[in-house]
Amino acid sequence: MKVLVVNCGSSSLKYQVFDMTDESVLAKGLVDRVGIPGTTLKHEPAGKDDVLIKEDMPDHTEAMKMVLNVLVNPEYGCIGDMSEIGAVGHRVVHGGEEFAYSVVIDDKVKKVIRDCFDLAPLHNPPNLMGIEACQTLMPNVNHVAVFDTAFHQTMAPANFVYALPYDVYTQYKVRRYGFHGTSHFYVSHRAAKLLGKYYGFCKIITLHLGNGASMAAIKDGKVISTSMGLTPLEGLVMGTRSGDIDPAIVFFLMEKLGMDANEANSYFNKKSGLLGLSGVSNDLRDVLEAADAGNERAKLALDVYCNAIKGYIGKYIAMLNGCDCLVFTAGVGENAIDVREHICKDMDNLGIKMDSKKNKVRGKEIDVATEDSKVRIFIIPTNEELVIARDTFNLSK
Ligand code: AMP
Repeated sequence: MKVLVVNCGSSSLKYQVFDMTDESVLAKGLVDRVGIPGTTLKHEPAGKDDVLIKEDMPDHTEAMKMVLNVLVNPEYGCIGDMSEIGAVGHRVVHGGEEFAYSVVIDDKVKKVIRDCFDLAPLHNPPNLMGIEACQTLMPNVNHVAVFDTAFHQTMAPANFVYALPYDVYTQYKVRRYGFHGTSHFYVSHRAAKLLGKYYGFCKIITLHLGNGASMAAIKDGKVISTSMGLTPLEGLVMGTRSGDIDPAIVFFLMEKLGMDANEANSYFNKKSGLLGLSGVSNDLRDVLEAADAGNERAKLALDVYCNAIKGYIGKYIAMLNGCDCLVFTAGVGENAIDVREHICKDMDNLGIKMDSKKNKVRGKEIDVATEDSKVRIFIIPTNEELVIARDTFNLSK
């Protein structure tokens, strides 16, 4: 069976086509600026030249139509006709408390996705738009939702409720959900393979360090805790998000800067993190370059970024009572050699010893711990699309 994987953002649509007989990727692509003048579609068919199409697309249905036309194009397409697509897998950010697993999408599932609009206002509405666009164009195949929150649903209440009046949990579902679950799931399973241990007996700390960043502590096959919370704002320092701060700073700055709730939300989500602190960029490469050139604020931003991660490693080792491995993944985790080195420096008392020579690598699955390190240090490129394709296939066989 061939499976189409779709990930819709507010103005973007990413896709991949998998042949599930060998899990190979037949093509992938990105439609950018959906609904904004200057839409582009970049299509990357396996073994053929990339194709760039520039044509304005007013909405996700039009963008999806364009993608389907590209997939069957005799010159650069990857399938003969649409009947070859046996199922479609959709990335959905928030599944609330309803979904601990992927599900075939029906009206009830769509209602839950809609009910979670409040909790993920930037993600769930375009996710649902993408689902509805695909259902309109491909009404006769299974559509499967794979939730970013699902893997973290194994957390116990003691690790997901906040110390707030309990009613806000029961009434408004204010609790820790966690995100990037599909990535934490994928890399932690790969880590168990590399450890040569049964997944259910491993203690794993996963570090998904991309523009958004989160960590998870996994024990006996369950997520014990994760750093993102009700929303992706909590936890590590990110490209533009502050991560953990004293909540009183929010009220203080709302008053000082005259911000309303919406403006404050944007301030802590879009103007903070590496960007706000360094004043250089939200992109870690730019911050590294500026720090190398002697920019003091960029150096400070990197130290704060790495210290936050170190802090979570310590916390998670305490929560897991030790750990078998750390797993670095996503853009920064897979590629930023100096950042990995900085994080793992001076942690030998916790059993973490990095081999600096082995660590000089990018985007490759490898163990970069020293021989005598008690904790293995893996770099594992993430593959969320493959998890979505597998779940979609398994629910559609
Ligand atoms: P992601 O969200 O997973 O695509 O990751 C994006 C982040 O990865 C950005 O902050 C990039 O600066 C960072 N990144 C990508 N490649 C590198 C690299 N070679 N060195 C350092 N950071 C990188």
